[in-house]
Amino acid sequence: MSADVIAKLKEHAAVPGRVWLRNGPVTYADLLAETGQLANALMALGLRKGDRLLLQVEKCEAVLSLYLACLRVGVVFLPVNPGYTVAETEHFLKDARPALAVVDSARVEGLAALGARTIPLDELLALAAVQGAGHDDPAHGPDDLAAILYTSGTTGRSKGVMLSRENLASNAEALVGLWRFTGADVLLHALPVFHTHGLFVATNCVLYSGASMIFQRSFSPGAVLAALPQASVMMGVPTFYTRLLGEAGLTRKACAHMRLFISGSAPLSPATHAEWEDRTGHAILERYGMTETNMITSNPYDGARKAGTVGLPLPGVEVRVTGADGLEVPLGEAGAIEVRGPNVFRGYWRMPDQTAKEFRDGWFVTGDLGAFDAAGYLSILGRAKDLVISGGLNVYPAEVEAALDELPGVAASAVIGVPHPDFGEAVVACLVPAAGAALDEAAVRSALRERLAAFKIPKRVLVLDDLPRNAMGKVQKAELRRAYAELFSSGSE
Ligand code: AMP
Repeated sequence: MSADVIAKLKEHAAVPGRVWLRNGPVTYADLLAETGQLANALMALGLRKGDRLLLQVEKCEAVLSLYLACLRVGVVFLPVNPGYTVAETEHFLKDARPALAVVDSARVEGLAALGARTIPLDELLALAAVQGAGHDDPAHGPDDLAAILYTSGTTGRSKGVMLSRENLASNAEALVGLWRFTGADVLLHALPVFHTHGLFVATNCVLYSGASMIFQRSFSPGAVLAALPQASVMMGVPTFYTRLLGEAGLTRKACAHMRLFISGSAPLSPATHAEWEDRTGHAILERYGMTETNMITSNPYDGARKAGTVGLPLPGVEVRVTGADGLEVPLGEAGAIEVRGPNVFRGYWRMPDQTAKEFRDGWFVTGDLGAFDAAGYLSILGRAKDLVISGGLNVYPAEVEAALDELPGVAASAVIGVPHPDFGEAVVACLVPAAGAALDEAAVRSALRERLAAFKIPKRVLVLDDLPRNAMGKVQKAELRRAYAELFSSGSE
């Protein structure tokens, strides 16, 4: 069993002067005191172990303190994307029935009107400020719920992912070892904190190693560049890296103090990986995970970081790739990615049937498609629901996107399946040109003919100003499919 998050907080708080946040600075001892005060404020408000606390605020340092305060009391932490409207948040309120919703002042009225007991974050912090710092933490077990994170749910109802303390702890320990975090590290934190990446991966790696962080309230390429000389590790989504590549100030010198750049949450194109290495001398380490499983695989720290792959299963985590019959496919063949281990969540909140559907013989079926290579590296081929079946043949979007991304003038690509009268589905490519580049549909298709079998060549290539992405930089393919659903409805091709 792994050390609990709060045990690690207390361990580092006992080290005089150990810094948690460079901004401030805030020491681990300060953090322990602050979380004690917050825990006491939550108790004063009547919250008890097992209650849910919904938090919907813009990114700020207090989010991390509140996450830890909830863990101290045993309150289940339920952070929600501040980008969601009141109407969107209604589902979480009805489903999770939080004992308290902590929100930015501007949201109080909207959420209170839905019947939620609501308090502005400022008011909670003021209440905490008059509490004592000592807090008698009750005993917590590894299976106790730590958090519920709702899936982004672009299709269907968003599901509450129940994460236990052991889920978080085991993953943090695995990642700290794998990525060689130590107390000397300084993590540059520019990710959102309502999602597993910025909340658990980033924060817990720091907490478990006693490292410190530079906490930025949003991602701005200029601010990141300015902070790199004081940092040693950065975690980002691929769009961080592509946007930083647009900055003239991104040089080897600017990155000289850094030891590690990590990418995840969406596919990092091999082209971006190569360009980053060329510009900075650093090979980005790509890893793969999801809300339900925490982190699953990672490229190695010392061994080859293979672009276009997400590396090897984490220690203690099992990964298999299965075919339609549920059996493991031969090495190198594509199939469904399934995961088993202490990282895998405890089910969807109040959805036992849905939970049962997504597990097979104790393995969680991720919904991603992938394949292992001979060296044990996993490649992600896209979400199963994004697989294109054209003329009865499977086309893996990731393979076509990789070929498109290599073409000159392509800044980003997304491949989708669109209903087609003859083929069932037709492959359609959506491309964003690089600055100053012009893309020609016929030229793109003919360039692809040298790289891909005919059935994988997009029937149409659409040139767009931008791709629809969510807060984590993930392309929203369902939105593209909806927008182009009628592309072939006249039977023109
Ligand atoms: P979320 O639950 O929002 O973190 O989304 C998880 C999904 O993001 C996974 O199931 C994958 O489809 C995708 N994902 C995460 N990391 C990667 C990666 N390195 N490459 C490709 N897809 C990724």
